[in-house]
Amino acid sequence: MGDCKFCGKPAGFLRNEHKECKRRHERGKAEFIQQIAAAPDRGDLAPLPDRLREIAATCQIERTMLPALMIAGFEEAVERFLDDHLLTVQEEEKLSELMKVLPVSQEELNRNGAVTRLTQCATLRDIQEGIVPQRIQFDGMLPFNLQKSESLVWVFQNVAYLEQRTRTEFVGGSQGMSFRVAKGVYYRKGGFKGRRVERTETAHADTGWLGVTTKHVYFAGAAKRFRIRFDKIVTFEPYDDGIGLMRDAQTAKPQTFVTGDGWFTYNLIANLAQM
Ligand SMILES: [Zn+2]
Repeated sequence: MGDCKFCGKPAGFLRNEHKECKRRHERGKAEFIQQIAAAPDRGDLAPLPDRLREIAATCQIERTMLPALMIAGFEEAVERFLDDHLLTVQEEEKLSELMKVLPVSQEELNRNGAVTRLTQCATLRDIQEGIVPQRIQFDGMLPFNLQKSESLVWVFQNVAYLEQRTRTEFVGGSQGMSFRVAKGVYYRKGGFKGRRVERTETAHADTGWLGVTTKHVYFAGAAKRFRIRFDKIVTFEPYDDGIGLMRDAQTAKPQTFVTGDGWFTYNLIANLAQM
């Protein structure tokens, strides 16, 4: 006879759980997540911890499982508020209250990027309202030499920087090869050059940090370091995973930054440039 891992009572021959206990446990986990996800909408968060303790006790949810359930509940709450990609001040306050109530670190809550998404949406709202966002803290040295008159708004790490390059090629050329002119006749000519064409290709030039300030876009990689002033940019090209910028110069070629999140990168840079 084995004991049920949920209620501790005999579960029967070769069994370690009662079906009923297992079901209650599963329902409890879903309810636990649900309570957290719906809490910000309900308003008062004070009763939440007691409610969660009660569910955990009644449904025999192991203590070790609670942090993961809290994170899942928080992520769902964020998802509900951000499904329109907009975060109102009120929504932001409710979610930060929820973060305080849950005994899980911000780092853990951000395991799948929920806190980052919240911060991004709040940053975009600040910019739209004409407020300079001050939502990122940076420990350590930044690889950018910021000017006194600007402030850092966001830093992307591990950004691939792509440059468009032009190569001149000759097509239809023949390097001393034989080719057939007519049946049975092979014509050979060395060094014959064909049409000159310009080909453009996008090449991975470097990987590094992309800093966005109130005035510039900065890039710092192992090989390339530069900044571009917003008023020198003539077009912003949104991509799925990044942004393309075109400078205001005759010789300028498109510069692309792959951040992994084109939606945020584009909205951030394009809106800051208009600020
Ligand atoms: Zn049981």
